[in-house]
Amino acid sequence: MEKEKKKILFVASEADPFIKTGGLADVAGSLPQALIEEGHDVRLVIPQYRQIPQKYKERMEAVCHFRTKLAWRDTYLGVNKLEEDGVPVYFIDNQYYFDRDSLYENEDKHEQFAFFSQAVLDMLPVIGFQPDVIHTNDWQTGPLPLLFADRYRQQSYYQDIKTVFTIHNLKYQGQFAGHAAGDVLGVAPHHWESGNIRHNGLLNYMKTGIMYADHVTTVSESYADEIQTSYFGEGLDYALRLRADDLSGILNGISYDKFDPETNKNLAVRFSKGEIDKKIANKVHIQQKLGLEVNGDKPLIGFISRMVEQKGLDLVKAVFDEIMATGAQFLILGTGQREYEEFFEAKQHEYPDNLSVNIKYDAQLADQIYAGSDMFLMPSRFEPCGLSQLISFRYGTIPVVRETGGLNDTVIPYNEETGEGTGFGFRNYNAHDMLHTIERAVSFYDQKGIWNKLINRVMNLDYSWHNSAQKYSEPYNQLAGIGKQKLLQKGDQSKVNIKVYHPEQEKEDITKTKKVKTSKKISINQSSAAELAKLPGIGDAYAERIVTYREQKGDFTKKSDLTKVKGIGKKKYQKISKLLTL
Ligand code: ADP
Repeated sequence: MEKEKKKILFVASEADPFIKTGGLADVAGSLPQALIEEGHDVRLVIPQYRQIPQKYKERMEAVCHFRTKLAWRDTYLGVNKLEEDGVPVYFIDNQYYFDRDSLYENEDKHEQFAFFSQAVLDMLPVIGFQPDVIHTNDWQTGPLPLLFADRYRQQSYYQDIKTVFTIHNLKYQGQFAGHAAGDVLGVAPHHWESGNIRHNGLLNYMKTGIMYADHVTTVSESYADEIQTSYFGEGLDYALRLRADDLSGILNGISYDKFDPETNKNLAVRFSKGEIDKKIANKVHIQQKLGLEVNGDKPLIGFISRMVEQKGLDLVKAVFDEIMATGAQFLILGTGQREYEEFFEAKQHEYPDNLSVNIKYDAQLADQIYAGSDMFLMPSRFEPCGLSQLISFRYGTIPVVRETGGLNDTVIPYNEETGEGTGFGFRNYNAHDMLHTIERAVSFYDQKGIWNKLINRVMNLDYSWHNSAQKYSEPYNQLAGIGKQKLLQKGDQSKVNIKVYHPEQEKEDITKTKKVKTSKKISINQSSAAELAKLPGIGDAYAERIVTYREQKGDFTKKSDLTKVKGIGKKKYQKISKLLTL
């Protein structure tokens, strides 16, 4: 079948290589190109921050500029453009909003990103691009689907456009005083009154995106399930359950060109699959460079991350001396909360030969650490997708992870009986479970036959964007196929095509959502062994085991606990999990 070509506008607050604070930039910097390779016509738009390097600013050409109104504010809107790796990239230029010291730490950030969202919509007829889908990302672009529903969809230029909102990290929501809904966004009062843009009495940009986009995605299947529970839902799990029918999880990929051990100029020694000696040469290089004891035989654990609670730093702190007692070296690169930075800086003095702490952001050093490390530690409390484990795979570095979110979907824990696995994993957010997993990894590191097999296996995995880009085509095609029958009558702003949230209806709505779901899927907690056995891929024996486990341990609290049932490994779980609900 011929691929359906769609016109996609990808909207993000940061994109590599222009501006990056985290994983969103990696995604926005590589997914558009992968979508173009899938046959779509894709363009990217980001704000033109002061921090974008001059070399890119010099390459930009002015497309247009005009004035627009953000609520009562009359303001300048410039659009500049360049092409990077075949992707047309637009930059929204307004010095008042984007010529700032900080990207996201400004008092008026609600206004900055309201402006950005509106500017993106305003520029479309002017630049002459009429996308099928506007793909928005994270809280900074949350207002766009709302503005679209409030006052753009009713205009003929916009009427066929659909919106997608991707959650990269639910923790960061963009919450502001409620008066901004009228004063800054200038939207009709019913959006606030209905509760659709409000959470705990505040205007919430993340919830806004969730409630108003035609389709919501997040960056792994596990995280898509997890965020519908109160533990992972960051207070918005009810909103996500309301949108459950329009919510899907699509794993991120990474650029296999950028993170290529054969060509990456940042590496001391470039290497390809099977060249394990050359990988060790990278270890020796980084040991020398950072002043560690130079010893190719010592296991080296890498850790590159924002230093925030999410990344499991409390676990690392709790058993740090025990980790060092395994005989491994530890290499840390990251910035963030001062308490973590100070802890590691202090430890540096205790372990001068075996610990290197680098409190900074350094992309080149990051590549050298990925390539030179034997293991890569990611004990995250939650992890929407996680890119570092995928980058580690690329460089033959074995991830040691907490099995949550995207880490759960990408790292198969090593099973010594079958020899299967692509890393080491632990389930509970518990420092000693993490420590034992590190100890286990270190013990296998000493068994070179096994370890080298693992290196070769992970270097053969394919987490490039190709598969994920194909998966995005599904919602794009579906949405674009919805056509005009669902469109609003002109001026009928009260019947926006979303579910209106009323707090008092929450319980009722959630039951409704669940009913819809159970008609399609089978409940693990409520089905008999016979019902479970009918699912493809389970069979009588496993169905019995699931029911016995439930009887002994109580109801499953999350789907992924199925892997605790004897014999249900990662692969089987992945096969059956889509057919099951709690
Ligand atoms: P998150 O988006 O939550 O920060 P991800 O794993 O999705 O986490 O992506 C983090 C990205 O940022 C990876 O590419 C990682 O290598 C990079 N990174 C994080 N901290 C640093 C740092 N201090 N120096 C260089 N790169 C970093």
